[in-house]
Amino acid sequence: MSTSTKIKTRFAPSPTGFLHVGGLRTALYNYLFAKQNDGEFMLRIEDTDQSRKVEGAIENLKDVLARFNLNWDNQPMIQSERLKKYRDMAEVLIKEDKAYYCFCTTERLEQLRSQQIQRKLPPMYDGQCRNLSSDECSERIKKGEPHVIRFKMPKTGNTEFVDIVRGKVNFDNKILDDQVIIKSDGFPTYHLASVVDDHEMSISHVIRGEEWLSSTPKHILLYQAFGWDSPQFAHLPLLLNPDKSKLSKRQGDVAVEDYLTQGYLPEALLNFVLLLGWNPGDNEEIFDLTTMAKTFDLQRVHKSGAVFNIAKLDWLNSHYIKLLTPKKLAELSLPFYEKANIKTKKFDLEKIVLTEQPRIKKLSELPEATGFFFANPNYDPGLLIWKKTKPQHIMVNLKLLIDILEPIKIDDWTAAKIEKIIKAKITENNIGTGDVLWPMRVALSGRKASPGPFEIADALGQAVSLQRLKTAIALLEK
Ligand code: GLU
Repeated sequence: MSTSTKIKTRFAPSPTGFLHVGGLRTALYNYLFAKQNDGEFMLRIEDTDQSRKVEGAIENLKDVLARFNLNWDNQPMIQSERLKKYRDMAEVLIKEDKAYYCFCTTERLEQLRSQQIQRKLPPMYDGQCRNLSSDECSERIKKGEPHVIRFKMPKTGNTEFVDIVRGKVNFDNKILDDQVIIKSDGFPTYHLASVVDDHEMSISHVIRGEEWLSSTPKHILLYQAFGWDSPQFAHLPLLLNPDKSKLSKRQGDVAVEDYLTQGYLPEALLNFVLLLGWNPGDNEEIFDLTTMAKTFDLQRVHKSGAVFNIAKLDWLNSHYIKLLTPKKLAELSLPFYEKANIKTKKFDLEKIVLTEQPRIKKLSELPEATGFFFANPNYDPGLLIWKKTKPQHIMVNLKLLIDILEPIKIDDWTAAKIEKIIKAKITENNIGTGDVLWPMRVALSGRKASPGPFEIADALGQAVSLQRLKTAIALLEK
C-alpha cells in the first residue's frame, strides 16, 4: 500500500438486536486505527439476512455505539438498500464465467451433504451446475425455477495473504467451496456484499474477528475476479471464557447492553475491551478514548485468544466509578433506584451515593447497599451490642450521642464536624470508641457492615439520625 493511501476502516455489524462485546472491541480497534492515522471510520449495516431481521436493531446499534463515543464518519451504508448493486456485480461475474447459476434444490444439497459427511468428506457443493449452458440457464430462469448464483472457485493453487495480526496465511483453493454469492431470495450473501462494499467504500484495512479468517481467501479471490486490489486484513483474537472455551451466552452475558444495564460504565467497558487482545507493553492499564488513540498499535494485537475476565472489568469499573463527581454518580444511579422501586426525591442522593462510591463495583449495587437510607431499618437489637459490653452501657452511650448530636446547628451537620465532636467527647469521657461508634452505626444503618457512622449521619440528616438513635434505645429498653 502506498503511503499516500487514506486509511479507512469500517465496523460492519449485522443488526441482530444487540451488540456483542466482541463487536464492541472490533468497533473500537477500527475506530482507533482510523483516528490515529487521520483516517475515517465508517459504519456499515450488514442486514442482508432476511431471516435474522430484528425490528429496531439498527437504531439500537447506533445508540449503543454513541454511548461509547465511537462516532462514525459520513452516513452509514445500509446493505439492504443496495440489492440491485450486488445483483449487477454478480451478473458481471457470470458474464465473465467467474460465477454461475445453480438450480440445485435444497433436498439435493442436503442429500449431498449427508452423503459427504457419511463418507467423512468435508461438505462441499459438487459443481453439478458449474457448466450449464447459458441458454439452459435463461430458459430455467424464465420458467421461474428457483436458483442461486455461485462463485466459481479456482480448484487449483493457493491463496495467500499477510494478515497484520497473524502474519502469512495460506489456504489451499481445493478446500474452498463454490460459495453462494446471491441467494434464492435475490439477496447477496455476506461474502459478495462485503467485498463489493469494502471496495466501493475504499476501505484500506479490514479489522474483524478471527471467525472471519477462513472467509478471507474467498474474499481475496472475489477481489481478484473483479480485478480490484484487496484491502489489508487484521483478524482479532477470539474472546474466551475463563475455562478457555469460546465466549458464549451460556457462561455469562455477551451483549454490551446487558453490561450497561448492570451498571458498568461505558468508559470502563471500553477500557476493558481495549485490553482484550492488546496491551501497551508496560504496566499502564487505564486508558480513555484519547489516550487509547495515541497508544493503540494494531501491529501489537495478540494472536492467542483473549480471556474475558470479569474481575478485571469490575476493577476497572470501580476505578471509573471513583472518578465520578457525586452529582454525576447520583444522576447515573437514578435508573437503578427506579428499578428497585426506591423513591429518591426527598433524599440527599448525592451524599447517599457518596457513602458507597469507594466500595461498589457496579451501579446496580447501589440500591441494595444504600437501601437503609430510604426506609427505617429492621434489625435484631442484639446487633447494637459491641463485643461484651453490657446493654445498659450501650444505652447510656446512645443517649450520650443524642445529647451530643441534638444541639449541632444544621450548617455544622457534616461528616467531618460530627466526627470531630463525637471523638472529642469519647476522649473527654474516656469511653471505648467501639462502645460508641458500633451502636451508632448499627442504629443508623441496621447493618453489620456499612459505611462509617459519620458519613451515614451526614447523609441521613440530623432529624432522621436522632430519630433512629431513639428507636435503638427503645429497642434495647424492651
Ligand atoms: N457482518 C459481519 C459481522 O457481523 C462482519 C464481518 C466483517 O467485518 O467482514 O461480524
